[in-house]
Amino acid sequence: MAEPYLLINLASIRHNAELLKSKANNNCELIGVIKADAYGHGALEVCQVTDSINIFAVARLSEGVALKLAGVEKSILIFSGVNTHDDLMTAIKFGLIVTIHSESQIELLQELPSESNLHCWVKFDSGMHRLGLHSDELDRALSILSSLHNVKIDGIFSHYSSADNDLERSRLQLNNFDDLVCNRTINTSITNSAGLLQGYFREQSYARVGLSLYGISPFSNKNSSDLGLITSQSLIAFVTSVRRHKKGEPVGYDGVWVSDRDTNLAVVGIGYADGYPRSAKSGTPVLINGVEYPLVGRVSMDLVSIDVGNDSDVKVGDKVTLWGGGLPVEHIAKCADVIPYELLTGVSKRVRRYYSDNLK
Ligand SMILES: *Cc1c(COP(=O)(O)O)cnc(C)c1O
Repeated sequence: MAEPYLLINLASIRHNAELLKSKANNNCELIGVIKADAYGHGALEVCQVTDSINIFAVARLSEGVALKLAGVEKSILIFSGVNTHDDLMTAIKFGLIVTIHSESQIELLQELPSESNLHCWVKFDSGMHRLGLHSDELDRALSILSSLHNVKIDGIFSHYSSADNDLERSRLQLNNFDDLVCNRTINTSITNSAGLLQGYFREQSYARVGLSLYGISPFSNKNSSDLGLITSQSLIAFVTSVRRHKKGEPVGYDGVWVSDRDTNLAVVGIGYADGYPRSAKSGTPVLINGVEYPLVGRVSMDLVSIDVGNDSDVKVGDKVTLWGGGLPVEHIAKCADVIPYELLTGVSKRVRRYYSDNLK
């Protein structure tokens, strides 16, 4: 049946990992960020194909547990850490690495069974002011953690708030971070994708890459190809119906688009329940048989309408590319007033994932 699917290219993820590694300083390794099911690409598949990455990170404990249950042996860091004794015991049971970003998490470790062996990364707030220990909390935190024989500190990390667009803010954060770690022999990690690609790091042991690993640019003024990245997914759907449409008639819910000429509309079987954004405006391009046509009218739950004009030979069953494969995800995100992260993570379960593993 011609239902929408997401085509994921694993070879491009490997290519992106190599490219990103070449942009980091020597001896810098990558932490592959595979939260939210690897931004929709399949966390298990992504960690199985990227041989050059040995540490992965997810947001939540349950994401890490699922990967361990599926047999992943590589290290997995939980960005938000744990807040209860039960969750701490689960992390230990599955050998997950926790983030320590607050004093209450440090208190939790006092009840650690003596035979346990917990690895952690300490998170420092260098200026984003979301999660992380303040500079005046850090020394105490590190000395408590170091005194616990069953806890091993794997490193200190921090997170940029605006590495894609604010040099001043990022420089301030980088300086705060460097001041803090410069006299310590400890693993460090400051950048995400945008910071790595901008060169906002001096020395660091690990760069944490998500979006760029999947071949998408974090910058609003650059596409992935400008950066040498290869987009690792295409969202595909099929034409359900081709219909004549009269000049002056509206299309779809609320009739927000009215045709100024007689035309043909292709109705395509994809909608916001699949993760194609309802905010995509009339004029957002799709690709049918290699030709760009505009979306018209509102995106509905399961369908969109495309104005294919009077001369096209578009027919029922034709394949439609919503993004990827010549249609940058970054551009579609702009047309829908969202960021590429939202598009990638929004593709719903109803959309099947297919994998390929060679570069064209
Ligand atoms: C999601 C996340 C990243 C990855 O960010 P990208 O912009 O996708 O590279 C890195 N670090 C932390 C703490 C994150 O939450």
